[in-house]
Amino acid sequence: MSSISDNLQAVLAHIHAYAQQSGRDPSQVDLLAVSKTFGADAVLEAVAAGQRRFGENYLQEALDKIQAVQAAKLVSTAAWPLEWHFIGPIQSNKTRPIAEHFAWVHSVDREKIALRLSEQRPDHLPSLNICLQVNISGEESKSGVLPAEALALAQQIAVLPRLSLRGLMAVPEASDDEQQQRRAFRQLKELSQSIQAAGIALDTLSMGMSSDLHAAIAEGSTMVRVGTAIFGNRNYAK
Ligand SMILES: *Cc1c(COP(=O)(O)O)cnc(C)c1O
Repeated sequence: MSSISDNLQAVLAHIHAYAQQSGRDPSQVDLLAVSKTFGADAVLEAVAAGQRRFGENYLQEALDKIQAVQAAKLVSTAAWPLEWHFIGPIQSNKTRPIAEHFAWVHSVDREKIALRLSEQRPDHLPSLNICLQVNISGEESKSGVLPAEALALAQQIAVLPRLSLRGLMAVPEASDDEQQQRRAFRQLKELSQSIQAAGIALDTLSMGMSSDLHAAIAEGSTMVRVGTAIFGNRNYAK
């Protein structure tokens, strides 16, 4: 089995190569390491290999992990601290710890959640960075605002204090067909462009996971969220 450090270097090399193939500057594609279901030890291994941004889906698991990682008091992170991103479904009664412990939230899909995050973001912290999760494939079971409703939601959120609306996030319907993957990502990019044309500044397209990195980067992703390719297969039974 390859190590987390080896996997991380391989993913970074892929991001670099895919960006160059698409005529993009590789430094414009950030890597979010999705550490859900893996322990603080796995995060610390990735930190030792240079990774600083981590994505989590499950709140209690994330809070325990953040605390365990902080307790490790990493000297190496003094200059460039860790950045935690919440990317999972949000229950409205669980917004306060998210507002208090994360730098980014990628999964905002309704105004109620944004209002609570805005009210609950502590004053001593910088604004909470927000991406709207869009149900780009229009799947019934998926969370995310529908594309037709994204502009209105962006307008509501852009004016809220203590939040900084940064962009859009999507998890398209799974497909092995790269052309189909690209179509979904292109739709998200075009939606972002239309929101910007309406006067709302956005600089982030959070799209692409282990199995569709290439398509996402080709279509303009600025942040890929990669779990399996770094940490291995998840075991939800544990
Ligand atoms: C789990 C998850 C990822 C990572 O997926 P991999 O296929 O393991 O790379 C990315 N984004 C979201 C929203 C996730 O829930």
